[in-house]
Amino acid sequence: GKPTILVTGGAGYIGSHTVLALKQAGFDVIILDNLVYGHRDLVEKVLQVELVVGDTGDRPLLDNLFNTRNIAAVMHFSAYAYVGESVSDPAKYYRNNVVGTLTLLEAMLAASVKKFVFSSTCATYGVPEVVPIPEDHPQNPINPYGASKLMVERILSDFHAAYDLKSVRFRYFNAAGADPNGLLGEDHNPETHLIPLVLQTALGKRESISVFGTDYPTPDGTCIRDYIHVTDLASAHVLGLEYLLKGGDSEVFNLGNGNGFSVKEVIETAREVTQRDIKVVECDRRPGDPPALIGSGDKARKILGWHPQYSSVEEIITHAWQWHQKRHQ
Ligand code: UDP
Repeated sequence: GKPTILVTGGAGYIGSHTVLALKQAGFDVIILDNLVYGHRDLVEKVLQVELVVGDTGDRPLLDNLFNTRNIAAVMHFSAYAYVGESVSDPAKYYRNNVVGTLTLLEAMLAASVKKFVFSSTCATYGVPEVVPIPEDHPQNPINPYGASKLMVERILSDFHAAYDLKSVRFRYFNAAGADPNGLLGEDHNPETHLIPLVLQTALGKRESISVFGTDYPTPDGTCIRDYIHVTDLASAHVLGLEYLLKGGDSEVFNLGNGNGFSVKEVIETAREVTQRDIKVVECDRRPGDPPALIGSGDKARKILGWHPQYSSVEEIITHAWQWHQKRHQ
């Protein structure tokens, strides 16, 4: 059979969709998740793979896992990811996202596991000089969350050079949507992301959606983002893993659609998809938001043979809407 893959953060949003894709591709999966934000019920009812509850910073737990199981590679999703919180409590982010990852990498090296797929982010670029952002664009993150991810990227290049640890780093743009078959979706608590908040407003769970900033240097004054379907992110991860298992060298890939949508366009599309009223309140800018973030998936298409399936924002919102309606029944 195919090798066993350790997936940290497999009970979270992007991790769970990737575990589903890994299972469909025939891999055995063990999830390591501390369940601070992850969902046990999704793992038990939907994914039905082994769940180890623990932290990536728990070295004895990791040593035990690597010594008793035949793990061929690690996919590392677990991290704290609230930009605003990272500004007010950076220690939490550096401890979990950087120190936790360092411990995980050291445990891998001790067990001679040398293939690693890492969830990085377009937040490592900071305010881009050009869009679409190429992978070799300078990385100057403007918040501790982005800095924590960039530090791990640096550790990975150094570990590649010194220890031959091979990694694929994916820099995601705005992950959105839900499993097209309705098995999984986005369920953050607290929720801070635009599309789920808009859909909660459509469902009447919220009074209105706040638009953070209408004076950006963009056509309608609101921020532009590149929304990428979570199932397309998941398929890229499976390809990245297979690439490493086949002996591929370390690489970095942006994962975006190459086109951007403004906050107002997203809300308008959600009105069309849901056929509901969505009340908007225009607010001040949210600190730390660059005006436009767009990336292309060209490199991933070329080197990994990635074919994103759901690149329209309408489809992304439709799948998210199916999930939200089901959950709130
Ligand atoms: N946004 C907004 N209202 C909200 C949440 C987000 O206007 O309630 C905006 C946010 O300022 C950004 C875009 O929507 O320009 C996407 O934000 P999100 O938090 O979904 O993702 P991010 O770009 O921060 O990763």
